[in-house]
Parts: sequence; structure tokens; C-alpha cells
Amino acid sequence: MTLDFTLSARGEELRERLSAFLDEHFYPVEAELDAEMDALKGPEPFGPLMSDLRKRAREAGLWNLFLSDKSLGHGLSNVDYGHLCELLGRSLWAPMVTNCNFPDTGNMEILHENATPEQRTRWVEPLFDGSIRSCFALTEPNTASSDPTGITTLAVHDGDDWIINGHKWFISNAVGAQLCILMACSDPEAEPHFRGSMFLVPMDAPGVKIVRNVPVFGHAGGPGHAELRFHDVRVPGDAVLGHVGAGFILAQDRLGPGRIHHCMRSIGWAERAQELAIDRAASRPHQGGVLSKSQLVREMLAQNRIDIDAARMLVLRAAHTIDEHGKRAAYRDISIAKVFAARVTQQVVDRAIQIHGALGLSDDVPLTKMWAQSRALRIGDGADEVHLMTIAKHELRNRGH
Ligand SMILES: Cc1cc2nc3c(=O)[nH]c(=O)nc-3n(C[C@H](O)[C@H](O)[C@H](O)COP(=O)(O)OP(=O)(O)OC[C@H]3O[C@@H](n4cnc5c(N)ncnc54)[C@H](O)[C@@H]3O)c2cc1C
Repeated sequence: MTLDFTLSARGEELRERLSAFLDEHFYPVEAELDAEMDALKGPEPFGPLMSDLRKRAREAGLWNLFLSDKSLGHGLSNVDYGHLCELLGRSLWAPMVTNCNFPDTGNMEILHENATPEQRTRWVEPLFDGSIRSCFALTEPNTASSDPTGITTLAVHDGDDWIINGHKWFISNAVGAQLCILMACSDPEAEPHFRGSMFLVPMDAPGVKIVRNVPVFGHAGGPGHAELRFHDVRVPGDAVLGHVGAGFILAQDRLGPGRIHHCMRSIGWAERAQELAIDRAASRPHQGGVLSKSQLVREMLAQNRIDIDAARMLVLRAAHTIDEHGKRAAYRDISIAKVFAARVTQQVVDRAIQIHGALGLSDDVPLTKMWAQSRALRIGDGADEVHLMTIAKHELRNRGH
């Protein structure tokens, strides 16, 4: 197998422009943007600063970079986008500035592939256009959602409509979203993998309630990770995405590239944490020299480099497999990349915190936020153990077991 991770000429050109754009427009206002996003209460999707940056990114042609469809995006391969996504991942909000944020990217991909012309006009075009945001609701507080075939949110036929009742939580970016792609059980008697359907539910439909943002590591602000209640929510028959019973197949498809986007972004956090650690170690006076003279500190910096480079290779390999053989053929590689990238990013950021001493735990540097994100990534989008089971299944199958 030949693995070529080099950027195409188009990818290289976009990477340079994106880097220059972030330096000029984004980093100077990053802290201000952080505060604005943290205060977001909805229903509007963005605050004024974010709207302004998005307008500029769009005018600069740095928009929907993740879309491999040439007619809508830039026609980049997943490997190309991997390099760009890493750059975006250096900061929490840079992906949103370019309309490349989670969960909208995964949502746009499945909508693009499965929406009817009417659904396209109502939801897909505004999402591509960036005038609305979306969330994806699968996980439930009272269901072990690693196995989503057990979800209890129920959609029942009423004439041509569906009536939906249920309880979801950890629904990222629900505050300020206009659309919820909701996974519900539409036929409890069907085979487990055909029980679920995806419904396109407007967030302002009667009966949809944002109960709260669930505090994660003490943080509950901004677009959040929300607890949602659905009480007798009525949607028309044409609110089903794809067809009735196809929910789990669509969910698998959604989590293909979407999962490696998280991993790509996490490499960006890890690189930024390493840069902060190097600069701190090289400038912190210590025992008549600087901290970076210590062999123990050097060992941490060296281990970080090994971990980051190894994670990048695995993530790009998964991207390469998707490019060459499609997302279904890439499940094993995606699982390997997901487990490894989430684990090592957490360790890299942890070492960077250690090198900073007390400063590393303060909000004066972004390391605790990165640590929280990387810890969460070991559960979000499939817990480590679920991916390890997938990898082991492939290993056994490859030996005929
Ligand atoms: C920050 C964050 C954002 C999220 N955003 C979203 C979102 O936008 N939309 C959404 O729907 N969900 C979201 N989630 C939820 C996430 O997808 C679920 O938490 C995850 O799928 C696990 O489900 P659970 O929490 O119900 O854990 P459970 O299913 O109860 O599992 C608990 C633990 O059991 C172990 N386990 C599970 N299965 C196996 C197995 N097969 N073998 C061995 N051990 C196993 C694992 O250690 C796992 O962590 C988010 C989660 C986080 C942390």
C-alpha cells in the first residue's frame, strides 16, 4: 500500500491562505470571541464578532473547506482537509469561522447525501450558506447510548405525521441551533438495527425544550452540550431523513469523516500545546539556566513530538483510506486513529500543563480547555472501548475467526 500524505497544490494554496487569514483576523480577537461565544444564549446562531469573522472568511473563499463535492466546497480530499483541519483545530472557534465546525460538518454531509429537494431548500442550503446551525441528538440520559439500538425516544405515526417523545442529553451546539437531527425509535418491533429513524426537527417546534446545558468540567456556557426534552413534538411525514428505519445506517455514515475531523482538530490542539510548552521551558529561569536544560523536561518534549507525529500519521492514514476506498472500508482505520489521537492528545496536553507548573492550570493559557476537550474526546463519538472492540473484531476476522 502506498501512503501519500502530501498536500495537493490546491490544498497547499488554501492552507497558506487559511494560515494568513487566521493570523490576521482570528488570533488578534480570539479571547474576545471566546467571551462572546460563551455568552451565547440563542436563538440567534452567532454573536456579532463571530458573524463578522464568518463574513470575512467567506469573502476570502475559506468556507465549507470540508466538502469534497466540488460543486459546493473546494473538492479537497480527506488527506488535504486533514492538514487544513489541523490548522483550524489549534483554536476552539476557528472551525466555526469557516463553517467547518462540529456537528454541522457531519450533519451537512449526511443531509447532502440523503435530503429530498424540499429538505435541501429548507435546511441544507441555509447550512451550507451558514445562516443557521444544527445539532445531532442521539445520546439519552437513561440509555447506555454506546449501543444506540436501545434508545427510548419514540416516534409514533399519527395520520401522515409523527409524534415524538423523548429525552436526550450531551447534545453539542444545541443552543443557537435551528435544526435538530433527532434519532428516534420509529418501530420497536423491527430488527434492532432497523428500529431507528432520523427526523429533521426545527428547534422552535412546539414541545422541544432546552432544559439546560450540562456542565462539563465546570463549564456550561455557549452553544453547550444540552439536555433536551421532546414532548408530543409533531413533525410531518417528510421530516424523515432518508427512509424510515435507516437511522442507524445514516448514523454510521455520519460518523465516518466526522470522526476523523475531531482527530484532525485534536492534532492541532496538541501542536499548540507543544509550542506553548517549548516556549515556556526555554524561557522559564530555573537553577541558573532555563527549565528546558532539565533532562526530565526534555524527555517530556521529546515524548510529545513522538506522540503527535504518530497520531498525525494514523489520522492521515484513515483519511487516505476514505479517499481511496470509501468511508465504510475505513471503519477500522478510523477507530484506530480515534482511540490513539484522543489518548495521546490528552497526554501531550497534560505534559504541557506539567511543564507550565501552576500557570498551566490557570485560564491565562488555553491548556485546561484543551485537556478537557481531549478527555471528552475519549467518550464523545464513541468511547475508547467501543472502538477497541471494532479493531479487535477486524483482527479476529482477518485471521478467519
Ligand atoms: C463533550 C461531549 C459531547 C457530546 N456530543 C454529543 C452530541 O452532540 N450528540 C449526541 O448524541 N451525543 C453526544 N455525546 C455523547 C456521546 O456520544 C456518548 O456519551 C457516548 O456515545 C457514550 O454513551 P454513554 O455516555 O451513554 O455511555 P454508556 O453507553 O453508558 O457507556 C459507559 C462506558 O461503558 C463502556 N462501554 C460501552 N460500550 C462498551 C463495549 N462495547 N465494550 C466495553 N466497554 C464498553 C465505556 O467505557 C463507556 O464509556 C457527547 C459526549 C461528550 C462527552
